[in-house]
Amino acid sequence: LDWKTGFFNQNAFLLYTGQQLFQKREFYLLCMSCSLGTSENTSSGTDEIVFKEMTRFISKISGTKVFRITENEIVFLFFDKEEEERVYRQLRSRFKKPWGKGRMHIIRPKWFSLTDTGIVNRAEDLLELFQYMLQKSIGSGEDNDYSVIDGSIIRELNQEKEVEQLLLKAMKQDWIEVFFQPIYSTEKGQFVSAEALTRIHDASGNIIPPNMFIEVAEQTGLIVKLGEMVFEKVCRFIQRENPARYGIEYIEVNLSLIQCGFDHLAEGFINIMKKYDIDPNYINLEITETASLNEKRTLLTNMKALREFGVSFSLDDFGTGHSNLNYIVEMPVDIVKFDRDMIQSYFHSEKAKYVMDAAMHMIQGMQLQIVSEGIETKEQYRVMEKLGISYIQGYYFSKPLPEREFLEFISNG
Ligand code: C2E
Ligand code: MG
Ligand code: MG
Repeated sequence: LDWKTGFFNQNAFLLYTGQQLFQKREFYLLCMSCSLGTSENTSSGTDEIVFKEMTRFISKISGTKVFRITENEIVFLFFDKEEEERVYRQLRSRFKKPWGKGRMHIIRPKWFSLTDTGIVNRAEDLLELFQYMLQKSIGSGEDNDYSVIDGSIIRELNQEKEVEQLLLKAMKQDWIEVFFQPIYSTEKGQFVSAEALTRIHDASGNIIPPNMFIEVAEQTGLIVKLGEMVFEKVCRFIQRENPARYGIEYIEVNLSLIQCGFDHLAEGFINIMKKYDIDPNYINLEITETASLNEKRTLLTNMKALREFGVSFSLDDFGTGHSNLNYIVEMPVDIVKFDRDMIQSYFHSEKAKYVMDAAMHMIQGMQLQIVSEGIETKEQYRVMEKLGISYIQGYYFSKPLPEREFLEFISNG
C-alpha cells in the first residue's frame, strides 16, 4: 500500500494488472494526473489539507480499485465499462469544484483512459504509456484534459523509441553533422553570419532532418548532450576554418528550451569555448519563447552568465506560438528572428502585413536587429530589403550546407 493515501502502490499495480493481462481478462483503466505533491517548496504542490480531502473523497468511491502509481498519478481500475464512465463523471464533477479551507483550491487533473488493454503486453507498458501521455500533454500546451489511449498512441510511442535508438546510436558513432545556412546583411551587401543546423545520418548515410529527432531528443533529455556535441562541433569548425576570413562575423546556434532550463548550460558552453579558444563574440545563441516561469528563471540565469562571458542572443521563431512582444522587452536578446510562417503571411494577408509592420517598428525602436527567415524569392528579398530588415536568411540565397560547401559558398559570395 501507498502509506500516504492508503491506496495500492505502484508495485501492487504492476502485480495486479500483470495478472489480469496474463489471464487475458478485460479491464479498464482511468488515470488521473495532477500535482499531488505536498512538499512545501513547490508552489504547484497541493497542500496537506487539500491532499487529505482529495484522498478521502477518492477512497469513498465505489466500484473501482485505486492505485497511486507515481507521486502525481492515481489510476482507477474497473472490470465494467459502465462503472468507468460513472466514476469518471463523479470525479469530474467533484473536480469542477474547489477544495480546501475556504474552498480556494481548484485542481485540474489530466485524464487518460485506456479501454482496450489488448493493445499492451506487459504491466510495465501501462506505466510507460501513462508517462508518455503525460509528457505529451505537457509538451502540447493544449487545454484538452481528457485523452483516450489507443493503438495509434502505441504506434507513436514505438516510433519515438525507434528514433531514440537511432539518436543514441548517432551520438555514439558520431553520425552527427552540422550544416550552415548563410545569413546576408542588407546593409553590407554580403554574408555576415550563418545559422548552424543539425542533421544526423543513419548507417547508410541518409540525412535525417531535425524535425525527425529534435522533439524526441527533448522528450528524452538527450538534447542536453546532443546540444553540447553540436556546440563543440561548431567551435571546432570555427577554430579550424576561421570563417571570419570570409567576412562571417558570428555563428548562430539553436538552443532548445530544455537546454536553457539546464542549470549547467552556461558552464558547459563556456568550457567548450575556452577549449577551442573561441572569441565569445563569435557566438550567438538562438532561444525560443517559454511560457513557464520556472524555465524562464533558469534561462535568464544561463543567459546572464553567457552574456557576461561575451555571447549574444537571438529570439528565434518570432511570429509563431504566442509571440508575446513583452517577451522581447524582458529577454536580453540582440536579434529577433522573424519566422518563415510570419513572412509568408506577410505576403498573403493585409492584416498580417499590419501586424508585422508594427512588430518591426517596435523591435527596431528597441535597437534590436531583425533576421527574416525563409526568404525564397528575389521578390520577397526586395520587399524585406525595402522594409529595412537588416538580415536575410533563406533558400533564395542558400539552403543549409555541409561544412565544405558552406566554405566554398561564402568564399565566392
Ligand atoms: P529554425 O531554428 O527556425 O531554423 C530554420 C529552419 O528553416 C531550418 O530548418 C532551415 O533549413 C529552414 N529554412 C531556412 N530557409 C528556408 C526557406 O527559404 N524555406 C524553407 N521552407 N525553409 C527554410 P531545419 O534545418 O530543418 O531545422 C528545423 C528546426 O530544427 C530549426 O528551426 C530548429 O528549431 C531545430 N534545430 C535545428 N538544429 C538544431 C540544434 O542543433 N539544436 C536545437 N535545439 N534545435 C535545432
Ligand atoms: Mg533557429
Ligand atoms: Mg527560426
